Amino acid sequence: MKRLLSGETKVVGVFGFPVRHSLSPAMHNAAFQDLGLDFVYVPFNVHPDNLEAAVQGVRALQLVGVNVTIPHKESVIRFLDWVSPEAQQISSVNTIHNSEGLLKGYSTDGQGFIESLGPMAAEICGKKSVVLGAGGSARAIVHALAIRGSEVTVANRTLSRAIEMVETLSKLLGNRSIRAVQIESKEAREAVAEANLLVNCTSVGMFPHIEEQPIPSEWLHKDLLVYDLIYNPIETRLLQAAREIGCKIMNGVLMLVHQGAISFRIWTGLEPPIKVMEEAVLAGLQRMP
Ligand code: NAP
Repeated sequence: MKRLLSGETKVVGVFGFPVRHSLSPAMHNAAFQDLGLDFVYVPFNVHPDNLEAAVQGVRALQLVGVNVTIPHKESVIRFLDWVSPEAQQISSVNTIHNSEGLLKGYSTDGQGFIESLGPMAAEICGKKSVVLGAGGSARAIVHALAIRGSEVTVANRTLSRAIEMVETLSKLLGNRSIRAVQIESKEAREAVAEANLLVNCTSVGMFPHIEEQPIPSEWLHKDLLVYDLIYNPIETRLLQAAREIGCKIMNGVLMLVHQGAISFRIWTGLEPPIKVMEEAVLAGLQRMP
């Protein structure tokens, strides 16, 4: 169904570089349409050199807000008027809200991850988890798990990067329950054996390298929930192996939907139609290579 934009239409969007493959426009526009809201979500390809000007543009053009994605999540912080404590702790903003000219920054990745677990969150938080990777998404997820009392092992290819993340978060949270190990190590294998949650926050297994797997299948056991943040392909090699062993599995679609749902609430104050957003993401993925 075609919709008309008018002088009343409220504008939100995403700043990324590149941004053309983002599924967020389809997801949010489907939600706006479903609720009959006069909002539109626009992808903006923002070169890093133009980030400050683009952020000033949010105010100048009276956008309601924007999502911020790679490579701007950290560098955008210095251009904002206020940043939530969580976003400060993980040095990452993925949602800006223009609150009467005041630009507020939030990170919805960690909370989106937890919400995507649904009722399983209660069983999982407070126990032992292994997070593979030490990049931006790992930081958000380790933070979300640690503040909920989980014992988290961060396993990364570059050990120094994992150590740096663990030291920073441990200091900020006054928390000793996070540790760093090398991904190809006995310690990592033992941590997986004792865990009830394994989260892949590396890009290993993502299209076009779909034959790759971040850890060997033999490390998995059926008491694990194996969560892969990757959504292209929908079922990575890691998830395929985990399913065959009898693990519960989740791909990255629901995290994408739930982090977007929190942005939606921040901008509109309304409850988003989660199922509609999920269907829009799945339809968008079918159009991808
Ligand atoms: P990032 O900051 O670039 O971090 C990438 C991580 O992958 C690093 O820990 C890196 O290890 C590791 N890595 C890359 N290539 C590797 C290899 N060949 N072998 C072992 N480790 C390797 O990326 P990110 O933003 O955290 O994103 C990570 C993944 O999550 C991506 O696939 C992204 O699409 C997905 N993601 C999904 C969602 C969602 O909503 N579903 C949200 C965010 C991200 P080193 O430190 O050693 O380089």
